[in-house]
Amino acid sequence: MKKQFAVIGLGNFGFYLASGLFQKGHEVLGIDINPRKVQEVRDKVSSAVIADATDPQALKELELEKMDAVVVSIGSMLNSSILVTLNVKDMGVKRVVAKAVSDAHGRILQKIGANEIYFPEKDLALTAAQRLDNPNVLDYLPFMEGYSIVQSAPPAAFIGKNLIELNLINRMGIQVIAVIESALNKVVMIPTGHFIVKESDVLVLLGPDKALSEINERSN
Ligand code: ADP
Repeated sequence: MKKQFAVIGLGNFGFYLASGLFQKGHEVLGIDINPRKVQEVRDKVSSAVIADATDPQALKELELEKMDAVVVSIGSMLNSSILVTLNVKDMGVKRVVAKAVSDAHGRILQKIGANEIYFPEKDLALTAAQRLDNPNVLDYLPFMEGYSIVQSAPPAAFIGKNLIELNLINRMGIQVIAVIESALNKVVMIPTGHFIVKESDVLVLLGPDKALSEINERSN
């Protein structure tokens, strides 16, 4: 499914994120205050504009509220990162993803309403440590075309039933690989058939895209 993204701040992280999303077939708008950065990304995204994202007026024309997600990838300039995240939230963007360079930065971004926060340096360092510690660990699943892992709220018909009753594996070819119990702030990895689905749970599902989107439609 083709989505629309905007990436504000085309430094290292923003550049690779924007061009990576575009390569995957999405529509990507790149935004940076620095004309050189905009020039560099121009032929690797759908469109790229020079704008100071701390200025709400400059953002208004870009209609960011229509995007599926807006990523604020300004790390080193804390005040710009905060102001831009605030501006984007104020415009009514549904999903705001922001990059943080420290835990304190991340806490601030969360307080002002960022929906997801990435810590690229920390996350990569932890992944590298794990890989050096245990080189045999599977890095990624060699995914077959047409299969995905998605998070989904349970459709109403799932609530109060256990996984044996739901029988998603035999009915739809879908495996429940984890459940995020948001009410209890915990994650159950590989739940057994006796796990009873609650309204506040988020299911992590592995399966064919078609069956996953059916579930997703029923949960909306
Ligand atoms: P990285 O560490 O991933 O290279 P940086 O935080 O150094 O990321 O890069 C930030 C990017 O954001 C730079 O390209 C910079 O020009 C851009 N930027 C900074 N302030 C603004 C702003 N107010 N509006 C738009 N882009 C900005």
